[in-house]
Amino acid sequence: MMDIIDLSLPQLALSLRRGELSSREIAQAYLDQIERLEPQLHAFITPTPELALAQANQADSRLSEWRKAPHGDLPHLCGIPLAIKDVLCTAGVRCTCGSRILENFVPPYSATAVERLLEDGVLLLGKTNTDEFAMGSSTENSAFGTTRNPWDPERVPGGSSGGSAAAVAARMAPAALGTDTGGSVRQPASYCGVVGLKPTYGRVSRFGLVAFGSSLDTVGVFGQTVAEVALIYQRIAGHDPKDSTCVDLPLNSIKLDQTPGTALKGLRIGIPDEYFHTAVAGSGIQSEVETSIRQAIAQMESFGATVEIIHLRYTPYALPVYYLIAPAEASANLARYDGVRYGARTENASSMWDVFYKTRGGKFGAEVKRRIMLGAYALSAGYYEAYYGQAQKARTLIKEEFERAFQSVDVIAAPTTPTTAFRIGEHADDPLSMYLEDIFTLPANLAGVPAVTFPVGFDRQGLPIGMQLMAAHFQEERLLQIAHAYQLVSEWHLHQPPLSKPHSNRLTL
Ligand code: GLN
Repeated sequence: MMDIIDLSLPQLALSLRRGELSSREIAQAYLDQIERLEPQLHAFITPTPELALAQANQADSRLSEWRKAPHGDLPHLCGIPLAIKDVLCTAGVRCTCGSRILENFVPPYSATAVERLLEDGVLLLGKTNTDEFAMGSSTENSAFGTTRNPWDPERVPGGSSGGSAAAVAARMAPAALGTDTGGSVRQPASYCGVVGLKPTYGRVSRFGLVAFGSSLDTVGVFGQTVAEVALIYQRIAGHDPKDSTCVDLPLNSIKLDQTPGTALKGLRIGIPDEYFHTAVAGSGIQSEVETSIRQAIAQMESFGATVEIIHLRYTPYALPVYYLIAPAEASANLARYDGVRYGARTENASSMWDVFYKTRGGKFGAEVKRRIMLGAYALSAGYYEAYYGQAQKARTLIKEEFERAFQSVDVIAAPTTPTTAFRIGEHADDPLSMYLEDIFTLPANLAGVPAVTFPVGFDRQGLPIGMQLMAAHFQEERLLQIAHAYQLVSEWHLHQPPLSKPHSNRLTL
């Protein structure tokens, strides 16, 4: 006996092709799970059940046409439901970015990543919760309430894509899109025990992604397993003339290898010494996190990988560099929310300046205001060179250091986060301690390299632990092959949070 929501994405796709399941049945199974768990977890800002069912009907017609002549092209994802982080534009469905300032903003177009999925016949289950404008590590900065971690609802799911991570972990969606500017796919994926991929900067179009830090923003993917992530990644990646930073490089179709040795034999894994020192990791790494990472690496070694200790000496600078560059870019990007062109506008203003002042003052949350002030200060005349200019130089050093490292190793293995999921409220009054959560994820964004996180264990409290692998630019496929190889020989990704069961929709396959 299997439940529809326990099937992997490739299994769902196969059942749809064979006509064993309809897209409507699949959509209904996920919508039932959302209805059951949403009151407890609050993973969605805007669920879209009617839209999902209407799209399912369309997908079912497309599938039945295809079955009459099954040799034509049928996109792999046709009829599959997904959840989308609420910072990616969706035509006709509001996109709030977790902010009161965009509470009623309905975009007239969809982000390229979303558009490509919709063209394939994907259904939209809803828009998932996020920290306001993706600024945060817990979803506590969302204007629409905090998402809860399915493994322990007293804890955060991570952020900023916490809604997408929680939805996938609790089987409210088979997979989801998120965004990663400084770790916002990898950190919540790690906290929720799912797979998360942050592609190379420029690999996936940013068109229609509401800008936060434009030189760092990437669109990423969450899945139960690597299989989901690979299927979605290869559909959303690739050149887009609407984003001038999106590269025009060939993209292979990814076929995950079914023997673990292929990706692991001879693989050179680098372990950055600095990541394990308290000088970098603040109060240090939780010992269970370090143990699980080391065990996962040892397991890879047993399949023929080799390990080398490497040095990334600029790692301690990643945090201050990121927290200058990201807020600087954010302060420029968020200048557009002036009450005139987009989103909310204050009712009672007496002058143009009053419109700006009252709209922005009243509608932005505390963290967004903090970033705008930090960023505007770093960019202001007289300070520009000292802060922003210096940060850009240090960023180049970090990027070059990664490039050097990848001359001697194929991938860099590290914890995704120093600890497992923290309690709601634990860091809420201390922005700096919240920023420290990002210490291991920020460097990949600064260097622009791809990174994947996947489950490698649980701590004593039953909270998931994630391991991160980083590779040279455009090596996403390699990362996915390695993570998949690990999942062939481990079972961490098969665990489910207890509250995701029980449910109906039983089905015999
Ligand atoms: N937590 C980081 C921040 O607050 C990263 C956010 C992100 O990747 N969107 O900026």
